[in-house]
Parts: sequence; structure tokens; C-alpha cells
Amino acid sequence: MEARRAVVTGGAGFLGSYLCERLVERGTEVICMDNFLTGSPDNVAHLMGNSAFRLVECDLTGFVHVSGDVDLVLHFASAASPVDYLRHPIETLKVGSLGTLHALGLAREKGARFVLASTSEVYGDPLEHPQKEGYWGNVNPVGPRSVYDEAKRFAESLTTAYRNSHGTDTGIVRIFNTYGPRMRPHDGRAIPTFIRQALSGEPITVTGDGTQTRSICYVTDTVEGILAMADSDFEGPVNIGNPAELTMLELAETIRGLTGSSSPIEFIDRPADDPAVRRPDTSLAASRLGWKAQVEAGDGLRRTIEWFADKLSETPKAVAG
Ligand code: NAD
Repeated sequence: MEARRAVVTGGAGFLGSYLCERLVERGTEVICMDNFLTGSPDNVAHLMGNSAFRLVECDLTGFVHVSGDVDLVLHFASAASPVDYLRHPIETLKVGSLGTLHALGLAREKGARFVLASTSEVYGDPLEHPQKEGYWGNVNPVGPRSVYDEAKRFAESLTTAYRNSHGTDTGIVRIFNTYGPRMRPHDGRAIPTFIRQALSGEPITVTGDGTQTRSICYVTDTVEGILAMADSDFEGPVNIGNPAELTMLELAETIRGLTGSSSPIEFIDRPADDPAVRRPDTSLAASRLGWKAQVEAGDGLRRTIEWFADKLSETPKAVAG
């Protein structure tokens, strides 16, 4: 069932902004809550004049209050890129724990459906490939990435406890790498980094030997999968991602080809605990939600490159003197 009034936490971030936009388009009133740690009001500036949209500056780890009815809470607040969560380790653990507690409390108080943005990172460096939802993961609890991975694992556990103890209508989506316009050029994720480097003629820096794989999903596909979960009463967890898998070197070469760049490819150190492989098994999403990714990597990357090219050409150049 489609919601009438929704709260989107982290709604001024990359994914959250698309969710706000799609919900408003579908006729849902949206309250977007964000503390702008890694997001920006710019991402939702185009929604600001719309009476069905409200932006509230709010830190989810503190007191959260929303007046009136709410029938859907999409909990997306959390730093998500390694550069961001390594820069904000405690904030990431706090929003994954306290933030999730408060968002669940809001859903319980309002009798709303709650959808947790979890991640493929709960599978860690997976020993099973592709990853099905029944796989428990291989996460180093004291490694540098644990601030994100363990926060999300805790958030999944808390969400499940609210469902079992309080009867809250919850759902968990495990989102795999998603890309598209509105990513920040310096957020450290591979796609914006490669595109920025290719467009500016700098070396494209591939970590390790580039044989590690990722499956990349275009943002509009991910958003439709999340909304299919929101509209259902399925508890999940369910993988949302594109199963087409490519190595990081293939990704770098594809981006170089699509931009027409002559940037050289340079190999740099691979970060600690970086997963060797990543590919979702999406059969559960297909059978329970009738959803599967549609956009091919070539298409999605082309659209993303166009956006970055426009964005980077707007960036003011430093003026000497
Ligand atoms: P993002 O950094 O662009 O957005 C996160 C938003 O949360 C930002 O606007 C940030 O300011 C906000 N936020 C952080 N802490 C907050 C707090 N304490 N209170 C209020 N707002 C807070 O990241 P994204 O890529 O849009 O990811 C959104 C969600 O989806 C995250 O929960 C992330 O873990 C999950 N996810 C994303 C991906 C992906 O590929 N983008 C993959 C898996 C999971």
C-alpha cells in the first residue's frame, strides 16, 4: 500500500533525496529529516517550493518528534561511503544504534511501516558468492570498516527486535553499491572518483590489482526496489542490487572509454578488509517484490558522467592573486 505521509531520515543525502522526490511524485507528503553531516539541502532544493515536502534539520541521535500522522518511516540516515564513515566513526555508530532506535520509536508511536536501509556490507568480505540473504557474513568487528558494518548489523537486530517485541511493521533492505547523479565527487567511492579523475585527465587510481569485483546498481533502480519494499508488508531482509558483476579494473576502463579520457590507470594500495567479491542474489526481491534492476551499467554510467561533467564545469576555478 502506498503511504500518505512519510518521514525520510537522511533525506538530504544521495539515496534519500531520490526517495523524497519519488514519494512526492507519487502523491505522498514527505518530511525529510537530516543533520547535513554528509548530505546537503542542495540535493532537495528542487522540492523546496512544494507544499508536500518539508525539510527539517535534525540529528537522529537526539530527541525526535514529528507531529501528525505518519504511515511510513524510511530510515536512511548514516554516512555511507568509506571516506565519510572513517572520518565520522563515532557518529556512524551512533546513528546506526541510537538513530535507528529513535526512528523505530517514531514508527512504533505512529503505527507506521518502517524500512531500514541496511547494506551489503553486513556480508563483510563474503565467503559465499553470490550473497543470498541467508548468509550471515564475514565481518571483522574491530577492523576500520566495522564502525559501519557493525552499526548496520546492530540496526538489523534492533529492527527485528522491534518487530518481534512490539509488533512494529518493519522491513530491511540490504542495498548493494548504488551510483548516479548527486554523488559527491570526493566521497571516495569508486565511481565518482574514477569519473572525476577521467574527466580531469588525472590518473585513475584502482586499488590492489583491480581484480576485486563489485555489482553496481543505478540509483533509479535501487529507489524502485526500496519503494516496492515500503509498499509491501515483507520483513526481509532482502537484497536490492544489480547482479551484473564487474572487476574494478573493468569499471575503470569502462569509465575511461565512456569519457573519452586518456588518463592512465594507476594501481594503489587496497584498504584494509576491502571485500574481494560482491554480487547480490536478487531472486528473493524478484519473487517477493516483483522487482529487478533494469538499467545496464553502460547506460547508467553515461547518465552519471553527463551529470558530473556539468557539475565539474560549474565548479569555480581558483583565481590567482
Ligand atoms: P549519504 O551520505 O549521501 O546520505 C546519508 C544522509 O544521512 C546524509 O544526508 C547525512 O547528512 C544524513 N545523516 C547522517 N547522520 C545523521 C544523523 N545523525 N541525523 C540525521 N541525518 C544524518 O549516503 P547514501 O549513499 O545516500 O546512503 C543512504 C543510506 O543508504 C545509508 O543508510 C547507507 O548506509 C545506505 N546504503 C547506501 C548504499 C549506496 O550505495 N549509496 C549502499 C548500501 C546502503
